[in-house]
Order: sequence, then C-alpha cells, then structure tokens
Amino acid sequence: MTKAKSGPSDPAPASGAVPLRTASGAPVVVRRSARRKRTVSANWEGGTAVVAIPAHFTAAQELHWVERMLAKLEARTVRQAGPGRTAPGDDALMARAAALSQRYLGGRATPLSVRWVSNQRSRWGSCTPSRRTIRLSNQLQGMPEWVVDYVILHELAHLLVPSHSPAFWAELAGCPRQEEAKAFLNGVSYATSRGLDAGANAGTGMDDDVEE
Ligand SMILES: [Zn+2]
Repeated sequence: MTKAKSGPSDPAPASGAVPLRTASGAPVVVRRSARRKRTVSANWEGGTAVVAIPAHFTAAQELHWVERMLAKLEARTVRQAGPGRTAPGDDALMARAAALSQRYLGGRATPLSVRWVSNQRSRWGSCTPSRRTIRLSNQLQGMPEWVVDYVILHELAHLLVPSHSPAFWAELAGCPRQEEAKAFLNGVSYATSRGLDAGANAGTGMDDDVEE
C-alpha cells in the first residue's frame, strides 16, 4: 500500500473529523491528493503518522480509511519493535509462532515480535514476557522443523509462565516430539564448540533466558 509519496502539490491537511493521534499517541496528518484515485497509504514521517487519501473521499470514507490505515501502521511498527532490525524471514517466523500458539497453546501466547538474532550464541531462544518479545538464535536455521517448532513453543510458553516450573511444562504437554527435540538440542550443544553451553540449563533441553 505504499505507492507514490505525496508531492508538494498536495492540498492542505483535510477536515478535523479524524483522530489526531495514533493509539500510541503520535500526531496524525491526513493528506488529500487529487492524483490519488483509490490508493490509500500510511507512513511515518519523523514521529508523525501521515495518511494519504484520494481527494474525492467523503468525510465518512476519510474516517473509515484513516482509522484502518493507522491500525495497520501501528501493527507494522509493533512487529518491527525491539532492539535491532527486522531481518528477512521474521514475518514468516511471526506467522509460524502464531500458528503454533493457536494449535498447541489455545492461542493464549500472543507475542508482539518474534525475531531471528545473530548475537545470541549461548542460548537457543530468549523471551521477555513483560514486552512480549521472543528472539531465536539463527543457529537454529537449518535444523529440522520440529526442533525449531519446539524452541518457538518453549519461548511462547514463557509468555504464559516465565519460570521452568511444573506449570510451565504443563503448558508444553501437547508439544509433539518434545523429548526428541530436547535431546537433539542437547546433542548439538554437546557436539559443537560454538559456545553453546549444554550444561547451563541441564534438564530443560534448552539454553534459553527469560528477562523481566
Ligand atoms: Zn525456558
């Protein structure tokens, strides 16, 4: 939905029948463009959310589309939140996490971001429950899908129970091939000299970290 940017010929910001702030409190500017026929777009310009709409939109259409585009813009921003940049594949990872949460955790684990990271060499995954962010080591890339799925589910379960308590493992009870995945990861940790410390989290089959 990001078509041509508004040019200097655009008329002044439109009527006041629209929210002036985004959900996160950022100012909003609506630009009407005579050159736009159907395309609606929303982008950040500095800290301002700029929504561009065709000049012929009615006030009702403007309200509808501005609200809708601001919601999309905020969702996109949240997905890209957290330290570091969004790498290619993060959208797919997020979708995979959502599917796993739906299938095995009743959809109750709802991360705001799930990202691949390259700076996490001593643990497979990490979770910050207070920010609902999950990071996976890119060392997992290329491992069997069911192993990666286990790590994703493990971190998703930390959104529900931060500690490795019985309640935590109860959340993971439905996770398929869980013991096999733990053994696989322990084997990799043991075999590699990449600094992955298999002993750090003995018994969980995971080297991960939960931050408050
Ligand atoms: Zn854990």
